[in-house]
Amino acid sequence: MIVVLTGAPGAGKGTQADLLSALKGFRKVSTGDALRKHVRMKSPIGLQAEAVMARGELVSDDILFEILRQELGPKAEEMILLDGYPRNVSQAKTLDSLKDVHPVVAAIHLDVDPHELVNRLSGRRVCASCGATFHVTMTPSKVAGVCDKCDGALQQRTDDSEECVRTRLSVYESLTKPVLEFYKEKGLYQRVDGMGRTEEVFGKLKGSLDGLRLA
Ligand SMILES: [Zn+2]
Repeated sequence: MIVVLTGAPGAGKGTQADLLSALKGFRKVSTGDALRKHVRMKSPIGLQAEAVMARGELVSDDILFEILRQELGPKAEEMILLDGYPRNVSQAKTLDSLKDVHPVVAAIHLDVDPHELVNRLSGRRVCASCGATFHVTMTPSKVAGVCDKCDGALQQRTDDSEECVRTRLSVYESLTKPVLEFYKEKGLYQRVDGMGRTEEVFGKLKGSLDGLRLA
């Protein structure tokens, strides 16, 4: 069975999916990771995707779905946490076509207040030398602007500037809202409060997933 995980950039979805997939009975499937893997391996579908991206275009729904289908594999006992898919209603409907083998049992929305998202993303600082990530308030470096690991200079990525963050969030929302509506209509939507510390959110998410497995 599949649990679709959704959440805005900065909501902590990736972190939570990684924590959960370390537990027995859960497996994370990320279409983004799978796509990068295919490109790296130069598989037929990876080469196809690479050509599309080189033209500056988005990888088509067909290519993404083929990658997802391979990643899901045959019917599985474990609960699959799907990260990065579906991004639109058309993808959600295609995913539905696998329901005999991989039914979607819930779409969990990791919900974080937009002000908090802006704060989380715009406070991020990345070391220009080693790539280590810090946050000005949540995980600050010992010396402001200097990397703890290599003394490199900490910088803000262009797309983490407050203005870019707001644009990213509104793009995300306009794309994802119809997908959430799609799952609401099917009675599969669940909201999990994504505010608070990582461990707290993890506890809430785990509770929801355990409830699904018992159902
Ligand atoms: Zn560094």
